[in-house]
Amino acid sequence: MESKNKCSRCNRDSVTESGHLGESLCRRCFTRLFEKRVKRTIRLNKLLHREDRIGVALSGGKDSAVALHIMKKLVDRVPSSELVAYTIDEGIEGFRDKSIKAAAGLCEQLGIEHQVYSFRESYGFRVDEIVKLGSDKRVPVCSYCGVLRRKLLNDKGRDLNLDKIVTGHNLDDEVQTSLMNYIRGDLDRIERMGARAGILEDSGFVARIKPLRECPVEEILEYAKIKELPFHPERCPYSGEAFRQTIRKFVDLLESNHPGSRFQILKSTDNLIERLSQGKEPAKISHCITCGDPTSGERCKACQILEELGSGN
Ligand code: SF4
Ligand SMILES: [Zn+2]
Ligand SMILES: [Zn+2]
Repeated sequence: MESKNKCSRCNRDSVTESGHLGESLCRRCFTRLFEKRVKRTIRLNKLLHREDRIGVALSGGKDSAVALHIMKKLVDRVPSSELVAYTIDEGIEGFRDKSIKAAAGLCEQLGIEHQVYSFRESYGFRVDEIVKLGSDKRVPVCSYCGVLRRKLLNDKGRDLNLDKIVTGHNLDDEVQTSLMNYIRGDLDRIERMGARAGILEDSGFVARIKPLRECPVEEILEYAKIKELPFHPERCPYSGEAFRQTIRKFVDLLESNHPGSRFQILKSTDNLIERLSQGKEPAKISHCITCGDPTSGERCKACQILEELGSGN
């Protein structure tokens, strides 16, 4: 719906209020500024090289859809780079099947190669089955699924010869994670946050990068709508981690009463990461005795979980 306000940059009819910039913007100016911010994140954090083979972890939701759309624009201008998209199918009926459809539709629209890799194929079970087993209700399913999902993203990223894995983490995700880690006193995890996830340098790890980490969730939604990107709007039915929900509500309230708080928290987190990593030797890496993946202990977390679930690989 068109607003009668004028764009503060070019005087066209505006369509959006950019909370972050506090401006009324037309579609064109909003898009330009949004993309400029993503490029700035990439440039300042040196996230990409010209010869990179890039894989977007495409969930089918709005965040990774926007990440893929912008990556496509960047890669089109740098012929030495390559782009593929891939989706992890955890096996969540009524949710992942719909988001895979949206992801495939987007890739077809953009002319990008798209692969789907499933838990069933790699681990021998679907997440729905773990939930049904429900042996220990105190452990939220995300604590299993998240680790196994990351492992599959990395394993398949290696198979696809990727130099970088792009994820769709946005400003709100980053701020929530930072506060959760801070409240839990988990400085090690805070240290591993940042635009480039994980600080371990090992040939077994494909670097995960987060070019949207400075983009507020509402602006990502706006961008996806303006570009008419197909995406599945629902959240995973198991994503109800109570602590994160509380933090989300708290951050939303903070932002509405004190606009700009999310950016301040992200900035403080980045300062903290820098302080924590100053003068530190790179972490010692060993390799999992079961799967060979880099890990800080004897066996990686994913293999421990697989054993617990009776599905050793
Ligand atoms: S929200 Fe949790 S259960 Fe759902 S896909 Fe993500 S990690 Fe898996
Ligand atoms: Zn304008
Ligand atoms: Zn392992």
